[in-house]
Amino acid sequence: MDTPIELWALTVRQPWAWALARADIENRSWTTTYRGWLAIHAGRALVDDVACAQGFIAARLGPRWRPHHPRQSLRARGQVLALARLDAVCDGPAQGCRCRSPWATPGQFHWHFGAWHALRQTVAAVGAQGLWRLPATATATVLTYLDDPARHEVMAHA
Ligand SMILES: [Zn+2]
Repeated sequence: MDTPIELWALTVRQPWAWALARADIENRSWTTTYRGWLAIHAGRALVDDVACAQGFIAARLGPRWRPHHPRQSLRARGQVLALARLDAVCDGPAQGCRCRSPWATPGQFHWHFGAWHALRQTVAAVGAQGLWRLPATATATVLTYLDDPARHEVMAHA
């Protein structure tokens, strides 16, 4: 019997949660020392200005961004959508940022993600602020919605 694991998770409001499943930078007002896999959780609330956020995403993803497509829609809320691997955080405000990613917004901490795994199905969970632990039962369900290589990769670093 495997020891139950609890993935670290990050709640992001839509549509940013969807975008983070494929963007190399997440802009945050706070930093973290954590490195490794994070469950990307779409919060129940939307961002205040959805049109503005969608415009930002559309400018970076082009035709790959189809906000009216069911899988890219704003409907997935209160759900874990994907796993993303946090590799580094740029302390932009303090250190002078040289990030060239089009996703990097000036004045924010830039969380650099280097790998992503989408889930075959989303998994319901209650989010929180900051980094939080996805309960073991929800983590186990998330892991079943990965293909085998992705699951091994995540579990090796969880
Ligand atoms: Zn930066």
